[in-house]
Amino acid sequence: MFDVVIIGAGPAGLSAAIACRESNLDVLVIDEFTQPGGRLLGQLHQEPTGEWWNGIKETQILLDKANALNTNIKCGISCHHIEKIDEGYIVHTNDGLLKTKKLLIASGAAETAVPIPGWTLPGVMSIGAAQVMTNVHRVEVGKKGIVVGVNVLSAAIARELQIAGIDLHSMALPVSNPVTKDHAHPGKVMDGLVRIAHLAPSAFLRFGSKFAQNAKVRELAVKFYPKGGVKMWGMPIHIRKAISQINGTDKVESVTMVDVTPEGKIIPGTEEIIKVDFVCIAGGLYPLSELASVVGCPFRYIEELGGHVPVHNEQMETPLDGLYVAGNITGIESAKVARAQGTVAGYAIAEQQDKVEKAKEEVKAIREAASIQFHPQIKAGRAKIHRAFQEYA
Ligand SMILES: Cc1cc2nc3c(=O)[nH]c(=O)nc-3n(C[C@H](O)[C@H](O)[C@H](O)COP(=O)(O)OP(=O)(O)OC[C@H]3O[C@@H](n4cnc5c(N)ncnc54)[C@H](O)[C@@H]3O)c2cc1C
Repeated sequence: MFDVVIIGAGPAGLSAAIACRESNLDVLVIDEFTQPGGRLLGQLHQEPTGEWWNGIKETQILLDKANALNTNIKCGISCHHIEKIDEGYIVHTNDGLLKTKKLLIASGAAETAVPIPGWTLPGVMSIGAAQVMTNVHRVEVGKKGIVVGVNVLSAAIARELQIAGIDLHSMALPVSNPVTKDHAHPGKVMDGLVRIAHLAPSAFLRFGSKFAQNAKVRELAVKFYPKGGVKMWGMPIHIRKAISQINGTDKVESVTMVDVTPEGKIIPGTEEIIKVDFVCIAGGLYPLSELASVVGCPFRYIEELGGHVPVHNEQMETPLDGLYVAGNITGIESAKVARAQGTVAGYAIAEQQDKVEKAKEEVKAIREAASIQFHPQIKAGRAKIHRAFQEYA
């Protein structure tokens, strides 16, 4: 029986493992991907300070620390079920059963699907898939593409694709439908961009700061948004144009772009065919939390955290004895926050309370200084989930 099994070798899982190994716990980290690092592996962006955040290098730093502590990390192992037993947990994997006294789920986040007519054609992918193919597998996703969905993540990844030498026509909104909701509403997209502008990577900041923080000015900015878009890194960002259809017979050949009103309604007669050979769809992220649900952990839906999250307290404990969560499963935040949360969880598992308190302060400081902030009301969301935990205390 292990002292602790950690599901997920992303920044949260790896830093938790390091903290546990510092206390000599018998730790096993499993990950279904072929290599450790999680979503960190694909990240490459410029901080507002001008410094580059290189996910591969950051992963290596974590791995060096974990290896120096003889941490047992197994890749290609997928967990599909968890049972609670009196002594702890049984983790069901493709490689058999794992018995553990304590369990940390650090499974990360998934991308929200945004359906657009034609989206099942080969050549259509999520923006995260494009990031992994480009930065992790070094596969060329296409010659010329378009990004559908304008948000901080899609802007950051669009830049990564450009750096890799991939030609992007532009970024535009998805067409409005019952699923695309706020993603297809120019006013809402603009609100989001302005709120995060001061925290976003530098070129994005320049883009965002072209618009005032004042709601009335923002409204005017949407109304009179330039027809040719606002250029970021030479690429037009459109919030008054949407993609209504992806066209092709056996694969993507073009998209149909339409002008939209400030409310996101299609303006008839404005259809334009844009030749591209791939399309990236960006619908945002939500916590990947099914495993916590399977084991019976209580949940709350908290918009500010990105969706359904397992109830947990500030030291990443859930109401289930010996079950911990850390990283994006607890709410969508940057890799730096996930890494710091993993340290909190690791020390909590190792019952190193002094270190837990210090690590909690570190999470707060990193959150304050985050250059990528996915949800503006993250602190309110955190307060809600921690209050929910009190109901079980
Ligand atoms: C597409 C995408 C792009 C992102 N880009 C950025 C960015 O540029 N900058 C940024 O700061 N943040 C970005 N994020 C947010 C990112 O998730 C966090 O920054 C950080 O990687 C979260 O760390 P984590 O350890 O919680 O999860 P992850 O890094 O996602 O790691 C979770 C790990 O758990 C494994 N796993 C999941 N389920 C199972 C299972 N059932 N069995 C076994 N293993 C499992 C996964 O394979 C994965 O390796 C991105 C997220 C996504 C989804």
